[in-house]
Amino acid sequence: MNELSDDTIKQVLRQVPVPGQRGDIISLKLLSGLVVRDGIVRISIETTPDQIEMMEGVRKNCEKAIRGVPGVQNVTAVLTEERKDAETQTANQSRDQKLGADGVDKIIAIASGKGGVGKSTTAVNVAMALARLGNKVGIMDADIYGPSIPRMMGVDGHPSSIGENRLQPLQSYGVKCMSMGFLVGEDDPMIWRGSMVMSALEQMLNDVIWAPLDILIVDMPPGTGDAQLTLAQRTELAGAVIISTPQDIALMDARRGINMFRKVHVPILGIIENMSHFICPECGKRSDIFSHGGARKLGNTFGIDFLGEIALDIGIRETSDNGRPIVISKASSPHAQAYMDIARKLQDNLKKLNTFQKTPKIVID
Ligand code: ADP
Repeated sequence: MNELSDDTIKQVLRQVPVPGQRGDIISLKLLSGLVVRDGIVRISIETTPDQIEMMEGVRKNCEKAIRGVPGVQNVTAVLTEERKDAETQTANQSRDQKLGADGVDKIIAIASGKGGVGKSTTAVNVAMALARLGNKVGIMDADIYGPSIPRMMGVDGHPSSIGENRLQPLQSYGVKCMSMGFLVGEDDPMIWRGSMVMSALEQMLNDVIWAPLDILIVDMPPGTGDAQLTLAQRTELAGAVIISTPQDIALMDARRGINMFRKVHVPILGIIENMSHFICPECGKRSDIFSHGGARKLGNTFGIDFLGEIALDIGIRETSDNGRPIVISKASSPHAQAYMDIARKLQDNLKKLNTFQKTPKIVID
């Protein structure tokens, strides 16, 4: 019987001193987050910029202490900083090194200007389609506000720990996957927010055994706020794909998404129109419920490739929501084919990007 509880962990943390102060992280109220789940422990410790070096030692000592507790399989402690000024933080971060993942060739962000447009559904189906084309693919659920990838991929359970601090990602239909949803249950209060986004992302890139991968798809949190900007800026992204529904109001948000990636010099590999039209299963009549063609037009305006359109269809919703993505479960359906076409174009655009980056610069004196 696993006796591991929040209290057990707090008890251990009381033994870790904070240099120069009379107390430990519990008595000094520096513990800002604690999650204990199936032997996996995650804690966050508050710090201020001037104390980061000293607190890094405390963080390591906390990890060491927790690792010694029977029943603990994996522990991650992160430092978090109360943000005072988003601009200063962004400026500081731009000086930092970008985060990549060992043995991963290309990281691609799948993003949308707002929630509910089918970003995660598209991310999963495109990931599966890229795998069907012969790529080694992984998908990382960075949508910390509502991680839904595990459910959509039909994976259950938790990633297993390897060695001291590495996690074996779960796999579904040959695609590796990792999500905050594995570490925090769907109904648990989500503590991994705001200032914790980067730490969480860093852990998911560094501690997860992704390699070898050709493509890692990152399902971004919806929107274009600070968290999204930081993610776009700090991750070593090969490019981004924008998902939008066709109506004007959604396109306004998509436009913001495009501008965000441009601002941080991430190439946009294409735009996808989701819920593009509807064919009535009873009478075969087509209706453009959310209008049609807006994403293609937006792409034209910005000089961005249009990757394709996906219909609004009950089969897409049902298969996505019950963990059997349509690209796999109804592989010969027209919808699966539409995702395959999108994946092919995306793959081509990635190759073009490669050629472009490898082209030697001609310097004329
Ligand atoms: P987001 O990631 O943008 O919040 P989701 O991928 O979670 O959106 O999709 C929201 C809901 O819409 C889900 O129930 C999903 O199954 C459904 N959905 C997404 N795309 C389609 C589509 N093309 N046709 C029908 N339902 C869809």
